[in-house]
Amino acid sequence: MANQFIDTARITVRAGNGGGGAVSFHREKYVAAGGPDGGDGGRGGNVVLRVDSHMSTLMDFRYKRKYVAENGQDGMGKRCSGRDGADLVIKVPRGTVVRDLETREIICDMSGEEDFILAKGGNGGWGNKHFATPTRQVPRFAKAGLPGQSREVILELKLLADVGLVGFPNVGKSTLLSVVTRAQPKIANYHFTTLSPNLGVVPMEEGQSFVLADIPGIIEGAADGAGLGHDFLRHIDRCRLLIHVVDVSGSEGRDPVADFDAICAELERWSPELASRTMLVAANKVDIMEDPTLLDKLRAHVEAKGCPLYEISAATHRGTRELMHAAAALLSQLPPILVYEPTYVERPPEVDTSAPLEITQDEDGTWLVDGPWLRQLMANVNFSDYESRNWFDKRLREAGAYQQMEAQGVQDGDLVCLYNLEFEYRK
Ligand code: GDP
Ligand code: MG
Repeated sequence: MANQFIDTARITVRAGNGGGGAVSFHREKYVAAGGPDGGDGGRGGNVVLRVDSHMSTLMDFRYKRKYVAENGQDGMGKRCSGRDGADLVIKVPRGTVVRDLETREIICDMSGEEDFILAKGGNGGWGNKHFATPTRQVPRFAKAGLPGQSREVILELKLLADVGLVGFPNVGKSTLLSVVTRAQPKIANYHFTTLSPNLGVVPMEEGQSFVLADIPGIIEGAADGAGLGHDFLRHIDRCRLLIHVVDVSGSEGRDPVADFDAICAELERWSPELASRTMLVAANKVDIMEDPTLLDKLRAHVEAKGCPLYEISAATHRGTRELMHAAAALLSQLPPILVYEPTYVERPPEVDTSAPLEITQDEDGTWLVDGPWLRQLMANVNFSDYESRNWFDKRLREAGAYQQMEAQGVQDGDLVCLYNLEFEYRK
C-alpha cells in the first residue's frame, strides 16, 4: 500500500540577500560639491518557522520544497535606505523537529509557541554616506549586500501526545480514541484504516486532562521499514505512556500473547528506550470474547513483565473510564513531554576561496577589497565575537588574501576596507 501519510519532508530554504548600498552625491542648485548621500541597502527577509495548530501532517511540503524569502532593496540617493525584504513564514504542525540534512543534528523542535528563524537574511550594504572621512570627501564606492543564509533541512513530525495507543491494525485503537475523546477518527473493520495519526484530549477532572494519540497500526517488520509502521513509530517517540491495545476476542483467530510480543519486539527494534516506556495493556473486545483463557494467558504474560492489564470493550465503553483513570494516575508521576534540545552547531559554510579578490585603491589611498567569497564569509561571521574574528582571520590567511593584498601594494599602516570593516593593515 502506498504511504499516503507524509510525516517527513526535505526542504531547502534561502533567506533574502541584503540590498546594495548606493553611491550618490547631494545635488542642489548653487551648491558646488555636495557630500555623499547614498543610502544603505535593506536587509534580506528571514525564513521563519511558525507552529500552526491546525496542521497535522507535513503533506504540504511534498509539493513545495523550495522556500525563498525576499531580497532587501538597494539603497538610493538622498540618504534613502532600501526597504527590508519581507520575512517568509513557513507554517508547520506542532511537534515538527527540524534537522540539518547533512549531519542530522537537531536545529529546533517546533513544540512551543515561538517562531524560529531558520535562515537569516543578509545585511544590507552601506551606502557611500558612511565612507566620507576628512581625507576622503568623495567616496565613490558603496558596499554590496550580504547573501542570505540557505539551508537544507529535514522536517520530522513527532506528535505531542502524553499517551500513545499501539497495537496491531483492527484491534480497536481508533474506536477507543473516539470513545474517550471528541476526536472522530475513521473506524472500519479492515486493516490499516488509519493513515494519519489522530489526537484527542481525554477530559479528566482538575486539570488532569491529557492528550491521546492513535497512530496507525504497527505491523511486524515495521521497524525495518516494511509496510506503514516505520513512519508512524516516530510519532510515539515523545509519548510519556503507551497503551498497548490487544484484541482478546479471538475473533480473527489471533493469539493475544503472540500479538503482544510481536508489537513489543517492533518497538524494541525501533527504539529500546521507547520499548522500556511505561505501558498499560488494554485487552479489548471482551464483549465478543469466545475463549476467556486467551485473556487469562495474556494477563499472566503481561503482568509478569510489570504491565497492568485492563479489560475493556471500546464498542460498549466497558472499562474505558477505568483505563483512562489509570493512565491519568500514572501520568501524574511521569516526567513531562520530551522536548528535543538542539544539537546543531552552526558552522560557517564551505566557501570556495580560489577566485582572486578584487583589490582597488581609492583616491585617498584606502584599499578596497571585495569578492563574492569574501562576502559569503563575512555574512557568517559575528564580528563582535573574538573567536569568530579569529576564525575569519585564519580563513583569510589560508585563502592567501593577505598575500594578494601585499602583491597589489598594500603596505603596513595602510587603511584597508573589507566590505564594511575598516582597519589599518599590519603584517
Ligand atoms: P484500529 O485499526 O486498531 O484503529 O481498529 P478500529 O478502531 O478501526 O476497529 C476495528 C474494528 O473493530 C471496527 O469494526 C470496530 O467497530 C471493531 N471494534 C473495536 N473495538 C471493539 C470492541 O470493543 N468490541 C467489538 N465487538 N468490536 C470492536
Ligand atoms: Mg485505527
